[in-house]
Amino acid sequence: MNYNWCHNPDCHKIHTQSRIRGSGDNKVLRTVKIKVGRYGSYQPNIWNYFCNNNCLFSFLNKFGQEIANTYSVKQPSETPIKVKKEKYESYRYKWTDNGSERVPYQATRTTIVRNNE
Ligand SMILES: [Zn+2]
Repeated sequence: MNYNWCHNPDCHKIHTQSRIRGSGDNKVLRTVKIKVGRYGSYQPNIWNYFCNNNCLFSFLNKFGQEIANTYSVKQPSETPIKVKKEKYESYRYKWTDNGSERVPYQATRTTIVRNNE
C-alpha cells in the first residue's frame, strides 16, 4: 500500500482548500491521503499516518488515554550513567560606560556519559 488516510478522525472537518473534493453542489471536505514515505526516513512511523502536527495532536488528545493504557508505564526506568564535572575558565560580559568588558570567572561544566560509551 502506497497511501494511508490521515488517522485523525476529525481530519475531514478541517477547512482547507486541499481537502475539498467533488464538484458543483456535491462538494465535500475529505480526509487527507498521505503518501507513504513522503519525508523519506524522517519519523516515518508517525508521518505516514498523520498529515501534520495538528492532526497528530487531535488524535493524541482524543485517544491519549487508550494509548497510555495500551503502553502503560508502571515503574520508572533507569539508565546507568557517570556524571563528570570539570572546572574551566569562562567569561561574562560586564556593561561599562564605553561598551563592555570581559570578566573571567571559574565555570563548571557537567557532562553526562552513559555507561559503555
Ligand atoms: Zn489529517
